[in-house]
Amino acid sequence: MEAAGNPVAEEGRSLLSPHEVEAPSRPLLELEGVWKVYGRGRGRVEAVKGVSLSVHQGDFLAVMGPSGSGKSTLLHLMGLLQRPTSGRVLFGGRDVSSLPDAALSALRNTEIGFVFQAFHLLPRAPALANVELPLLYRGLPARERRKLALAALARVGLADRAHHRPSELSGGEQQRVAVARALAGSPRLILADEPTGNLDSASGREVVSLLSRLNQELGVAVVVVTHDPEVAGAARKILWMRDGVLVGEAEPSSATAAPSPQPSSERPPLAGKGGRLRLRDLLRQGLGSLGRNRLRAGLTALGVVIGVAAVVLLVAVGAGVRSEVTRGIQSLGSDLIVAFPGSLEVSGGHPVSPLTSVDVSRIQERLGERARVAGSVASSARVSAGGRRVFATVDGTTAGFHEVVARPLAAGRWYTRGEVEAGARVAVLGSKVTRSLFADSSPLGRTVTVAGVSFRVVGTLVPVGSAGIGFDRDNMVFVPITALQAVAGRTTLDAIFVKAPSTSEVPRYKALVEEYLARTYPGDEFSVLGQDQILDLAGRLLAVVTIALSAIAAISLVVGGIGIMNVTLVSVAERTREIGVRRAVGARAKDVLWQFLLEAVLTSVAGGAVGLLLAVAGAYLLARLSPVPAEVTPWAVALAVGLALGVGVFFGVWPARRAARLDPVEALGRE
Ligand code: ADP
Ligand code: MG
Repeated sequence: MEAAGNPVAEEGRSLLSPHEVEAPSRPLLELEGVWKVYGRGRGRVEAVKGVSLSVHQGDFLAVMGPSGSGKSTLLHLMGLLQRPTSGRVLFGGRDVSSLPDAALSALRNTEIGFVFQAFHLLPRAPALANVELPLLYRGLPARERRKLALAALARVGLADRAHHRPSELSGGEQQRVAVARALAGSPRLILADEPTGNLDSASGREVVSLLSRLNQELGVAVVVVTHDPEVAGAARKILWMRDGVLVGEAEPSSATAAPSPQPSSERPPLAGKGGRLRLRDLLRQGLGSLGRNRLRAGLTALGVVIGVAAVVLLVAVGAGVRSEVTRGIQSLGSDLIVAFPGSLEVSGGHPVSPLTSVDVSRIQERLGERARVAGSVASSARVSAGGRRVFATVDGTTAGFHEVVARPLAAGRWYTRGEVEAGARVAVLGSKVTRSLFADSSPLGRTVTVAGVSFRVVGTLVPVGSAGIGFDRDNMVFVPITALQAVAGRTTLDAIFVKAPSTSEVPRYKALVEEYLARTYPGDEFSVLGQDQILDLAGRLLAVVTIALSAIAAISLVVGGIGIMNVTLVSVAERTREIGVRRAVGARAKDVLWQFLLEAVLTSVAGGAVGLLLAVAGAYLLARLSPVPAEVTPWAVALAVGLALGVGVFFGVWPARRAARLDPVEALGRE
């Protein structure tokens, strides 16, 4: 019945140290010829020189000796917070000197409690949260943590101070909170390094009697490093240390301590969930820490906000322009073929075109009546009417151009074949030119001046939207090519357009045009493109532009990432002592890594989310207020999330690793 009466205790015990053999004679902790040497060469310090000792369940030892004799070092070795340079450390009979960090941390977490001279409480956390800290790293659920922590606080007489922060507590109370923290995980060993060193004598006495009560009531083994004979007097045995060596031991003369402790079976049970910090607690911690540094986190995230907003917006503009261009090209019709001199591969530097109106006629003859053929030559010119002027693309076209390239009229008519043959000075205006020159009045029958030559307006076009980068299809004036030649002096065509009778006949007509050009101009290179190829070409050009712009925007992401790295480094430096405390209560190096990495990633992702919202708002405004189209696609959203995550991880991992690699004892030592 007795064994069944405390099943959880059995479970808890087996979790804490699965291989442990509970023999009454077996010491809890053994040091065998342990050395600790710092530095090398001239800086070499032998802090502990071949110390052997054992601590049994229920022991109460005091370690005394002059300053610098190696007492603290010895205590850190006993607490598995430091590895010996040589010699063996056995815990529960098992050699732990070379266990990996995670295993040592788990042992510290479950079997050992530390009390430091400077208390080492987390200043911003209330007493309860401080006491819960070791339980957090055991993966206990919140409710259980709270219960155990409250019990530990009650045991040190501070149940009513659970929600006070360290700054609201006296030194003695702070140290009792620290004792409660050491106690909360029901360790078998409590190690205290000059626990009364920062206290007045009354508070000191209180802490010492607390330790000795824990020793007697719970059977916890206690090792106290102290200068104070009164503190040592509470112990059952005093070890003297000098120059890194144990030089003697004694029973305290005042022998206030006496009764043999209760058996350790009364140790309260604990069962953790896998003995790991829970994701939920990790997240809560990270969010809490960022929340306390709200302004700093916000400013840090700003770089990512701007970077993500810029990238998403540029991608959105790219996508918008692309679909606009696609629509524009598609509006030309899927049966359109364009022929122009030069190749697609040659970018920049148009070759001198050999094409003329004669070619248009000849191609028309070859293709027959069912196809429609026209040519055009474009140039830029100043166009004016009355007192107003604009700079526009002036397109000289052969007869029937409007039948090949669909451009719906808003008013009036296109010029006739006869007008083209006669070189009549008539013009059809794009919507933008119309608006600029004539505002709201009708331009039909009025005169516009193109490069100093007068043209009569016979028609106006409906707007079609800009179909490309730097090319506005509404800012155009169409005139007969014969008339333009009189103005510009050019007789060659930039391109010849062919409208095939149907989409399915495009390849055949393309081949015919190619054949004609090859025969007529042997040795010259031409491009003859169907709609698919035009779309492909435009898409490729736009992709290059989008990528180039996004790369520039990505620079601000890098800057943002460096900001995050910087602040995470600062945070690690600020919280070095906190890292030491967490490691002492059993946080694995990996837990520390995750803690800081998570903060970096949360900062970055929050920045990314805000940046995405800004980009969506920006795209909406752009679409409403400017002619630049912008579309935030799902792909851009995924890009934003991915970028923010990537920046956080990439720039957070190095500072986080630095934090994880800190030596726990060194971290604790920095004040
Ligand atoms: P005590 O606690 O008895 O005052 P310590 O254990 O702190 O002594 O230090 C023992 C010796 O080891 C001292 O000479 C100290 O300067 C040296 N020491 C302690 N820690 C380090 C370290 N990280 N690097 C170099 N020397 C150290
Ligand atoms: Mg010391």
